[in-house]
Amino acid sequence: MGLRMQWKTCYKKLPLAAPWALERFVCRAEALHPEDPHPEDPHPEDPHPEDPHAEYLHPEDRTLLLKPLLLRLSPAQQVTQTPGLWKRQAVRSSLLDAGIPEFQNKEWGENQHVTWESTEYQEHMEPSGSKCRRLSGALVKPLLDSVDCVLLDCDGVIWRGGQVIPGAPQVINLLKENGKRVFFVTNNSTKTRRMYADKLAALGFDASEEEVFGTAYCSAMYLKTVCGLEGGKVYLIGSPAMRQELEAVGIRQTGAGPDPIDPTDWTDVDLDPEVKAVLVGFDEHFSYMKLNRALQYLSRQGCLFVGTNRDTRLPLEGGKTVPGPGCLLQAVETAAQRQAQTVGKPNQFMFDCLASQFHVTRDRCLMVGARLDTDIMLGSSCGLKTLLTLTGVSTVADAEAHQRSGRAERQGMVPDYYVESIADLLPALQG
Ligand SMILES: [Mg+2]
Repeated sequence: MGLRMQWKTCYKKLPLAAPWALERFVCRAEALHPEDPHPEDPHPEDPHPEDPHAEYLHPEDRTLLLKPLLLRLSPAQQVTQTPGLWKRQAVRSSLLDAGIPEFQNKEWGENQHVTWESTEYQEHMEPSGSKCRRLSGALVKPLLDSVDCVLLDCDGVIWRGGQVIPGAPQVINLLKENGKRVFFVTNNSTKTRRMYADKLAALGFDASEEEVFGTAYCSAMYLKTVCGLEGGKVYLIGSPAMRQELEAVGIRQTGAGPDPIDPTDWTDVDLDPEVKAVLVGFDEHFSYMKLNRALQYLSRQGCLFVGTNRDTRLPLEGGKTVPGPGCLLQAVETAAQRQAQTVGKPNQFMFDCLASQFHVTRDRCLMVGARLDTDIMLGSSCGLKTLLTLTGVSTVADAEAHQRSGRAERQGMVPDYYVESIADLLPALQG
């Protein structure tokens, strides 16, 4: 397929496109651009190694096409995930040509946290002074009236581990009785949608499988829709739930369960030639063998690299904590010297996945979360209203520190409102 065609396809898929997919594409377009060849890229007149029929992209076309793609990458959190793209002089020039004026931190080196503030993005951010308000009394009903759809994080918002937050089932059930759509959006990759629906029902919530968006399911959807791997195969470092969700969307896997040690030659492990991607999530059988196998797959050309989420610690009752899947992902990233694309919050894919299945209007959605860097960040970056509950890990002081910092990339972690508990919504719903 020619490059121009690919741009068009890519553009059409924008609601589901992810930063790394765009980055790969942009870098590829740029490699074909005659004015600014990257030292490692082939000469523009040489046939592209992956696509000998690829077309040149005229600089003006590139500018026109880059602008909407790059606007899509805001805010800064997402930009951070694409250092490769931002390193490129041609991309920077294209941004300036496209009239995207504002950059902070012009350090463009490897793994630099580049902050990009677009005025277009800023326009739909409220001034931070009006944010982080306590939601109580007369403020509750107008907020609920202003939304049709409520997205809820699970752990820390409606339950803690196996223990339900008092009043949460009544709130969710009343929201539904009041005609709101309710969705459960969680980074936990240990359960399928079905398992979540069962847990929700057992705890007294009126919920169905279709309303659950967890990272086991969303990773499978990401590999299917964004990576086009339906019918393909992945190397899975993950849970049985992830395996089930992959299989449910027609993606085969190898790797689930323990990997017996075979230390004769670590560089000569059996690799499945059909594997096109490595997917990393929560895996209780994680081992050196698996780490090594992932590295061998990721060293192969064209192997995609996807992670469920970057949470490194999972808080439990009584101040206890266990390592999160982000630790396993970092181990694989370190070994492979590559960065994975993550699917979970704050990546917008979680919302995009939901929005591709249900008709939702962003500014009539409320994201309720207990973590500023995942839940609230997702809500802000998708243009949703945001509400922090204080029954999880983040505090008002954390939110205020982000607000006071004056740093644009931290304002997405300031919620519009906060409540002590989701149960604080109950009086307005009962009244
Ligand atoms: Mg949570």
